[in-house]
Amino acid sequence: MADKRRGDPGPLAGLDGAAEIGMAETMLKARLTPLQLMVLACRYAPSKLRCECRADCCSGWRTNPTWRTAIADVAGEAVYHALPAREHVDQRYVAAVLLREYGAQKIALTDVGASLGMPLGTCTNRKRKILGWLLRPKALPEVKREDGTISQPAQAQGIEVSAFALAEEVLRGGGFIE
Ligand SMILES: [Zn+2]
Repeated sequence: MADKRRGDPGPLAGLDGAAEIGMAETMLKARLTPLQLMVLACRYAPSKLRCECRADCCSGWRTNPTWRTAIADVAGEAVYHALPAREHVDQRYVAAVLLREYGAQKIALTDVGASLGMPLGTCTNRKRKILGWLLRPKALPEVKREDGTISQPAQAQGIEVSAFALAEEVLRGGGFIE
């Protein structure tokens, strides 16, 4: 979240700003899990940085390596934590779901899925599970059938939701935000 402000000449710009960002990052790293930090980087780190290389082919922008790594790492985690273990999952599809959500890129997920040989229903189902794992507003209890078997397993609050709440608490405690 501090990274987002870094792009503008705001309160966190300049040398004092850099020191403040360092302090905020240290506090966040002490309280949030590595996965929570990566998910926040997907959402709040700038996806592109200014490029001054002046090559003929340069658009003036380059992909932020921190953001790119966060997307790849969260995709790897999602394969294991958001989707059923027994299914073979192509990580390229998971990454496409994340790029569409966090990169604001117009990616046709059904086309990506089709090129990987995934049926439409599987594409939709996996997208829903991945986004629920990240963005589910609150935890859901398990639902039992009359015979006692479970029809719907308990589902945790989305990682981004819990990470944001915790980060907000940490930054407020540190006096960085009101
Ligand atoms: Zn360049």
